[in-house]
Amino acid sequence: MILILQEHVHPGTPDFEAIMDYLARRPGVSTRVQEVRGAQQTLTEIYLIGDTAALDRDEIADLPGVEQVVRVSREYRILGRHQDDFRPSGFEYNGVEFTQDSFELFAGLCAVDNREHVDRTFAALAAQGLRCARMGAYKPRTSPYAFQGHGAACLPFVFDSAGRHGIRVIAMEITHEKHIQEIHDALSALGKPTGVMLQVGTRNTQNFELLKAIGRQQEFPVLLKRGFGITLEESINAAEYLASEGNQRVVFCLRGVKTNLGDPHRNLVDFAHVPVVKRLTRMPVGVDPSHSVGRRDRGPDGIEDIQHAAAQGVIAGANLVLVDFHPAPAKALVDGPQALRLEELPLFVEDMQIAREAYLKRRAAHERARAPTPPAAL
Ligand code: PEP
Ligand code: MN
Repeated sequence: MILILQEHVHPGTPDFEAIMDYLARRPGVSTRVQEVRGAQQTLTEIYLIGDTAALDRDEIADLPGVEQVVRVSREYRILGRHQDDFRPSGFEYNGVEFTQDSFELFAGLCAVDNREHVDRTFAALAAQGLRCARMGAYKPRTSPYAFQGHGAACLPFVFDSAGRHGIRVIAMEITHEKHIQEIHDALSALGKPTGVMLQVGTRNTQNFELLKAIGRQQEFPVLLKRGFGITLEESINAAEYLASEGNQRVVFCLRGVKTNLGDPHRNLVDFAHVPVVKRLTRMPVGVDPSHSVGRRDRGPDGIEDIQHAAAQGVIAGANLVLVDFHPAPAKALVDGPQALRLEELPLFVEDMQIAREAYLKRRAAHERARAPTPPAAL
């Protein structure tokens, strides 16, 4: 059971203490308190663990200071969407809102190679009015001999350039908990010119110690990739690890799954799961067409598979698209063959806007169809 408290009720206020006293008198029930920073406000939530079946829900709902009581109806306790659960989804970070209704493009380098490419990429994004980006500094690679990313060394010029171009949020994968401190230090040294969304890559979706470390900090939100070789349930539980440690600001990102079917793509595209994750949880949901499709082929209609896949995710309601762009893909140190060129960015943005508008129109049409028909005029 989860108690969501009214906006003005926080630890230390009389209502909060009275609620905690009431709960302390219930046998077999323990509590865990979290301050939850949502898109609009920070709310206190109390999680009740143990013998909650014996609790009187209506009595608790009537306690002064209680806004809402949610009975946990499935296993994703914190991030899950439960019966009669009207908690808002999402959060705000560095001036950008991430909810199940928002929409942002995160385009950029799979791996930072040099200052010039970073600068050109941010300039191209800014020219399209984009305020988010992707930039990889720490790269988990299949081969130990492959380029592993410039790591902390590139952070100052990446953050400085982002700030100069008005980029507010950069999705950046980390592979070790010490990278959180490195990112914090580099941002602080520059006076926080931009923000970072910590990315957990598909190879680390079940790296529980990394998840716990990222979950313990509240400074940065998280973009968690679906694990490419595990069930959806296991991946959502990975997100729950972040939340159970205290960080609920999580975007869940689909990126395709491995199969052994000799696919035409690097992974089997799983973007039909966008509405599934939105239904099971309150997380904003993103799609990564680059790492799922993994190659630049086009259909007989002249549209590339990467763009088709991205549009499929967006028309199904995706809240974020993470996509590889590079000023000179032939020179990219990681994933050049799947990167779109910067000259292609305006068309990509237009294509995504078309898909987003189509999604909103579909949603409106379905809402109209569900609305009760007004009585016929006499
Ligand atoms: C990436 O986005 O750079 C990446 C490596 O993705 P994934 O973890 O999904 O393979
Ligand atoms: Mn990549």
